[in-house]
Amino acid sequence: MSARTDLTVVLTFDVDGETLWTSRDANSRIGPVMLSQGAYGPLEGVPRILRLLRKHDLRATFFVTGYVVDHYPDRCRDIVAAGHEIAHHTYGHEWPSRVDAQSERRSFVRALQSIERLTGRKPAGYRAPGWELSDSTFGLVREFGIEYTSNMMDGEHPYELTVSGAPTGVIELPCSWVLDDAAFFMYGLTYDPPQFAPSQVYEQWMGEFEGMRAERDGRVYVLTLHPQIIGRASRMAMLDRLVAAMKRRGGVAFSTAGAAAAAARRSGETRTREYDGSRALLQAEGLHTERQ
Ligand SMILES: [Zn+2]
Repeated sequence: MSARTDLTVVLTFDVDGETLWTSRDANSRIGPVMLSQGAYGPLEGVPRILRLLRKHDLRATFFVTGYVVDHYPDRCRDIVAAGHEIAHHTYGHEWPSRVDAQSERRSFVRALQSIERLTGRKPAGYRAPGWELSDSTFGLVREFGIEYTSNMMDGEHPYELTVSGAPTGVIELPCSWVLDDAAFFMYGLTYDPPQFAPSQVYEQWMGEFEGMRAERDGRVYVLTLHPQIIGRASRMAMLDRLVAAMKRRGGVAFSTAGAAAAAARRSGETRTREYDGSRALLQAEGLHTERQ
């Protein structure tokens, strides 16, 4: 196999458990069935995912809420024992854009503590639930020494985030709703878009993969999956087929998110983006106001 890497595939699993549902609408009457839908992730989805990763001899990154770390400790230990990376995904899946600064900070710190108890070290990566950030989020990321984030949707290469033009040392691994299982499969009593057939999603994800690979310029293919969503048998069969097909292509490397971010940093990659730069430009033109 050639040493050249045209495309890096990063498999990420957001293990939200029940907090996927409670964070969407904490005030709604969420009953035992919807909560059980969340529990399916750690109970059934994670073991299937670990078997698939073992079969393909791959390491992945699990963004686990602190709640799941504390309430499914055996499952989380299985993830760690298999050599996968555990990263930060808040404590209770609080959406940063929907909670006040104090609550966000409390959740952030509590999740750090849960992960440190599990793995013995601080997580390197952070991903925001709901993929939106508050005015406080990036400050917390920097204050607590997070080394990479995976939230933005403005590119396909790793890049370093800057603030007022100054490098922060934080590497961003951009993602996309196109490469997210929730966009195609997520369904609940109070959230009921159409569900896609696994074959349709295979076509979508393979199309992105082939196109990005053909550009041969060091892109990262960050796939975002949720054990409670992708973990169903039919979808896991599709993921198995997808991973097998990707492995057959030349110039493809699989990596954890942490290793991909570290490699980008080591490579001296000069690509940068200003954190929240678009908002500053829009505000200067009077086209955007402060968030409430
Ligand atoms: Zn999540």
